[in-house]
Amino acid sequence: MVTMKGNKLGAWYSSEKFERLYTYLKGDLGAEWTKEKTTFRVWAPTAEKVFVNLYPGGSVSEKEATEQIAMEPYQNGVWTAEKEGDLHGTFYTYSVVTADGEWEGCDPYAKAVGVNGERAMVVDLDSTDPEGWEMDKSPFQNKNVTDAIIYEAHIRDLTVHKESGIENKGKFLGLAEERTQNSMGDCTGLDYIADMGVTHVHLLPFFDYASVDETKDGQYNWGYDPENFFVPEGSYATDPYHGEIRIREAKKMVAAFHQKGIGVIMDVVFNHVYDAEKFCFNNIVPGYFSRIDSDGIYSNGSICGNDTASERSMVREYIVQNVLYWVEEYHIDGFRFDLVGLLDIGTINEIVERVHAIKPEVLFYGEGWAMPTDVTKTGIKMATQKNSYLTPQFAYFNDTMRNLLRGRNSDTGEKGYVNGGTGRSDCLKSNLMGIPYWACSPAQVVNYASCHDDLTLYDKLKAADPMADRATLLCYNRLAAGIVFAAAGIPFIQAGEELVRRKVNADGTLNSNSYDAGDGINAISWDCLRNTDCREMRDYYKGLIAFRKNHPALRIDDIREIRDRITFYDIQRGEETICLIDCKGVDGESARQLCMIFNPEQEEMEVMLPKGKWEIHVSGDKAGTEKIGESDSSVTVPPISCMFLIQRQG
Ligand code: CA
Repeated sequence: MVTMKGNKLGAWYSSEKFERLYTYLKGDLGAEWTKEKTTFRVWAPTAEKVFVNLYPGGSVSEKEATEQIAMEPYQNGVWTAEKEGDLHGTFYTYSVVTADGEWEGCDPYAKAVGVNGERAMVVDLDSTDPEGWEMDKSPFQNKNVTDAIIYEAHIRDLTVHKESGIENKGKFLGLAEERTQNSMGDCTGLDYIADMGVTHVHLLPFFDYASVDETKDGQYNWGYDPENFFVPEGSYATDPYHGEIRIREAKKMVAAFHQKGIGVIMDVVFNHVYDAEKFCFNNIVPGYFSRIDSDGIYSNGSICGNDTASERSMVREYIVQNVLYWVEEYHIDGFRFDLVGLLDIGTINEIVERVHAIKPEVLFYGEGWAMPTDVTKTGIKMATQKNSYLTPQFAYFNDTMRNLLRGRNSDTGEKGYVNGGTGRSDCLKSNLMGIPYWACSPAQVVNYASCHDDLTLYDKLKAADPMADRATLLCYNRLAAGIVFAAAGIPFIQAGEELVRRKVNADGTLNSNSYDAGDGINAISWDCLRNTDCREMRDYYKGLIAFRKNHPALRIDDIREIRDRITFYDIQRGEETICLIDCKGVDGESARQLCMIFNPEQEEMEVMLPKGKWEIHVSGDKAGTEKIGESDSSVTVPPISCMFLIQRQG
């Protein structure tokens, strides 16, 4: 994509002088409502004139402006205007005159918008608080990040299926409904997630994104297309037209999760915007938000047409204020950063520091892939896995673990540790310790076997071993899950992984990128619980989650302590691995020792246990916190399975 916009000013925007003159850090940009008056503030340092236009309706097709107010220059490039009276529910836009011409559009700091986010709306935010909101609290206080167990889901996927028993299908409110059931009486939606025992739900983007037309029903997109960063997505609301409704309903959803003891993690996409040419910030301050070179070429590490210039002071401030806003206004408990390897470590560390100062339990993690991007300043380092030591409170997806378990996504036929790949037991050991080669602390490692991207776990296992029967594929699946929940770090599962989720196209091919594939491919089919395999897999995952929660020794976040406590035994035969953890003195730990045996081989495996009495808690297709067998000598571990044993204190 080529543009003239901003190409003359890019170097000026990134200069020290510009930042000294035009950095505004008061954190009060946008429309500030009170009953008596509303104050508008917008950062437009290169503007010649700026106006606020007031409208009775939120759609650009609706009615003429009732008033245009000229804004006054204030300080550091900020312009302000005041309007007397109670403006709650009034829509507005800015008109900006710059050397590039005149433009009218939305406020990048809009806290509410009309349908499809075309116009901003003045909002009395207190009026959007659901009942009891002032008492709403994070359920994850005073915990370590490695205590988290994350369930990744899409709002529509969880609620839209005809067997969901959910009334508000595809909506925020659908996830606030309690006691929903499928026709067999199994819980679904919110209750189902709570029943799994996870600590956090991670929801795919629910800020206002552009790829779904909010005036139409039944549209589908994952939502990695930011339009209005400070506003919830309208298609998830029962009414996308009245700006206050989506805000109230998003808050109700958060409150419902909190009441079930579950934190809410928001998937945020700062690395690019849906359409850089149309994005309001890039029009108010031409080309400021994006990395555009002197020839007008957009940097495109994101492969979405543009990369965000997070290294510029007012982009950084924008992102920092945005995250703070979701924490304070919506009580969000964590953030998953899409392609965070395109953002600079200064921005990431400032976000973490500012948020943790007010809410220390907020989780931060992201996709730390190293991607080429044309940063507009020199000496800037990016938030990648390799630089993880420079962002100590920020965690990264562990694709090393994912590739280890199932083979690389780029090679569909490649096998992993669980389905016959060889030469991987050293990699398994470092991953069980929570330190894949790029990491220095388990607190920065998010372990997973599948996420929304690429093939589902079951589909990948099948694609790499097409001749394997279902029973064998389920063994692979269980072994992968066993490793994810045994490893030091932060376990993460894609919704439905525990229901043997698949994404199969109509023509029988597997779907590895279902971002716009609709409900047919994406919805969680709540009737899959008719299938015994799926029920048993769900129970197995539940059992692993309960086991992990029962054993603080699995959740230690200090790598020195892990090194002291962990011992590996090699069998010297195949890929089998035995891991012993000395639990003495671990706070809250009921076991003296834990023994975890991983057998990816096709034959059963005889293991002599260390001295003492051992209880088996995980074996074959069973997992949990109850004794399902015991031994004081040896155990037989079935083929392609893991076995977890505990030795009690005393
Ligand atoms: Ca939208």
